[in-house]
Amino acid sequence: MKKILILVTAGLLAVGFFALDLNQYLTLEGMKASLGQFETQRAASPLGVGLAFFAIYVVATALSLPGAVILTLAAGALFGLSVGTVIVSFASSIGATLAFLASRYVLRDVIQRRFGDRLKAINDGMAKEGTLYLFTLRLVPIFPFFLVNLLMGLTPVRTLSYYWVSQLGMLAGTLVYVNAGTHLAQIKSLAGIVSPGLLLSFALLGVFPMLAKKFMTVLQSRRVYAKWQRPKTFDRNLVVIGGGAAGLVTSYIAAAVKAKVTLVEAHKMGGDCLNYGCVPSKALIKSSRVAHQMRHAENYGLSATAPQFSFKKVMARVHEVIATVAPHDSVARYTELGVEVLQGYATIVDPWTVEIKLNHGGTQRLTTRSIVIAAGARPFVPPLPGLDDVGYVTSDTLWDEFAKLDAPPARLVVLGGGPIGCELAQSFGRLGSKVTQIEMAPRIMIREDIEVSDLARDSLSRDGIDVLTSHKALRCEREGNHKFIVVEHQGQEKRIEFDALLCAVGRVARLQGYGLENLGIPTQRTVAVNDYLETLYPNIYAAGDVAGPYQFTHTAGHMAWYAAVNALFGEFKKFKVDYSVVPWATFIEPEVARVGLNEQDAKEKNIPYEVTKYGIDDLDRAIADGTAHGFVKVLTVPGKDRILGVTIVGEHAGDLLAEFVLAMKHGLGLNKILGTIHTYPTLAEANKYVAGEWKRAHAPQKVLVWLGRFHAWRRG
Ligand SMILES: Cc1cc2nc3c(=O)[nH]c(=O)nc-3n(C[C@H](O)[C@H](O)[C@H](O)COP(=O)(O)OP(=O)(O)OC[C@H]3O[C@@H](n4cnc5c(N)ncnc54)[C@H](O)[C@@H]3O)c2cc1C
Repeated sequence: MKKILILVTAGLLAVGFFALDLNQYLTLEGMKASLGQFETQRAASPLGVGLAFFAIYVVATALSLPGAVILTLAAGALFGLSVGTVIVSFASSIGATLAFLASRYVLRDVIQRRFGDRLKAINDGMAKEGTLYLFTLRLVPIFPFFLVNLLMGLTPVRTLSYYWVSQLGMLAGTLVYVNAGTHLAQIKSLAGIVSPGLLLSFALLGVFPMLAKKFMTVLQSRRVYAKWQRPKTFDRNLVVIGGGAAGLVTSYIAAAVKAKVTLVEAHKMGGDCLNYGCVPSKALIKSSRVAHQMRHAENYGLSATAPQFSFKKVMARVHEVIATVAPHDSVARYTELGVEVLQGYATIVDPWTVEIKLNHGGTQRLTTRSIVIAAGARPFVPPLPGLDDVGYVTSDTLWDEFAKLDAPPARLVVLGGGPIGCELAQSFGRLGSKVTQIEMAPRIMIREDIEVSDLARDSLSRDGIDVLTSHKALRCEREGNHKFIVVEHQGQEKRIEFDALLCAVGRVARLQGYGLENLGIPTQRTVAVNDYLETLYPNIYAAGDVAGPYQFTHTAGHMAWYAAVNALFGEFKKFKVDYSVVPWATFIEPEVARVGLNEQDAKEKNIPYEVTKYGIDDLDRAIADGTAHGFVKVLTVPGKDRILGVTIVGEHAGDLLAEFVLAMKHGLGLNKILGTIHTYPTLAEANKYVAGEWKRAHAPQKVLVWLGRFHAWRRG
């Protein structure tokens, strides 16, 4: 209501201004004609006229009325150079700030709400460099004064900064125009006041602060390197530390563009994903699914049977799968691709030197133009009293430790309700362990919407897992051979006995012991990098889990491209890493896959959205497969088919998501998905059907009424 009142008042004042023909005074001729009269009044009451002029100037600029230039000339003519400049400088800055505030108050929320996600980059830029841009805009008088006020009101620039930068930036222009006003009689047209030469000088002055900033950045980076001795030549173009997803892709790209690259891996090529993460966990999930299907074979008209199996063989298969995939990441393959692979522990000695303690003995020092840190992450082990005493496994150790067992642990505690905890809890539950899953938060998979967490919990519970949410692990205890974990829930302590405990409460970046401390490279849970993945030292980059913000194999690979290209060609062209469309999946059954916003994100970020949902229970193929559960949920911009985010819960959700990832990446809306032929009968049809749901909800009802009438008329 207040906003409408402001708009109406501003509108009425503007209409009044034109209705009373006041604009005649704001032309060069009109002002010249009435100047004599104003001068007489000023002579009689200099302070009164000065204040009145000041007020008129403030109102005119606050209302974005045309004529600021004329008023500025008038200030010169009436009050002379110094007083005129003071009056105009303050009046114009105050008026500009009022217009800026009005625009911010009336329009900003609406604009940010509507285009918030797309304005993010601009907002971030403005938050970082807003004052510099504003200074440039103010200094170069070719940018319309009123437009700058209105547009800047929509950005996050702070009001006080806006005021003083405006005043400072406009000072040069104000001086020129007020000075021109002191020779008003000689001015024939406004165009002549500022010559092209003067405009160019202003423009140069405007870009100067930006150039100065760039210069400061270069200076700063030189200062960072000051205490190090740069080698005259380099042994390598690039040394990559870590042979996981990030390191492998980085060195692959470097070799592909013929750089001399060395990849250093201390342990196993392929890193966490191949050896302890994605690959073994997915292999185990498959065995557990088969066991589950056998148990529920009656769903397919077959006799249900309790799966008979050797756990040793299941774990052996996990290791076979790792071994089968391993050649993709092997030393042999990468050597063949042109990468020098050294097996050893790398330490960054100075910004251009890496020392490698080779696994088979000896050390080697390599100088290099650039370094990419791809050292990954390790499981976080919470500081629980008694934990070491009872013993535990993590994703790093479980594959070898459990491979020694004849049967799955009879009673398994899984600490953590995130994706890794859920995947492993379900797998071991299906393989026969009595699993208790302990999560401190009120629900598992907390990053997903509540309904997704609920579905996941239901599914895990159906598999016999005791999912304890809002339960805080306090300590572990041992009594003889009996091991317990003590948890707290609603003020009550509970003791849970177990045979094995799996810690899956998150993963922390590897930050110590390879030179970051020595070089003073800042870390904040991960290695601190800028948008180009540069660390404090612009020739040292970081990618993958060690740098975050996501911890997935595909994001590690994605970042690797930027790290490699920027490290090798950054002096010519640098690329900002793009996290605008990042998908992920949790491979429980039913699978949960997501890209972009879900409802809880959208609410948190105050982004308006519409939800369209399609239930997979209705899908022909899912019915035939006996997997008719879950949904596809799409968030779109209200009234538009532009996709903000998608969550899929169901069989092969991770695969189904790919279509939406592509659509979001390339700006394709639901109409385009609806207009695409999807093979029948496939699960992928769910994507088309959700688009169909959206279309139905947005059918033009009024047009349809008329079409009904048209057809009735045609029938006669
Ligand atoms: C159980 C589990 C399941 C997962 N499932 C999935 C999934 O389904 N999908 C998915 O996308 N992601 C999954 N992940 C995450 C995925 O494994 C990681 O995001 C990915 O491995 C990160 O790759 P990276 O290259 O950054 O690090 P890593 O794979 O950890 O590689 C880092 C390498 O650097 C080496 N290194 C460290 N320091 C040095 C040094 N100083 N000198 C030499 N070498 C060094 C390490 O030995 C390591 O091999 C899973 C993780 C786990 C634990």
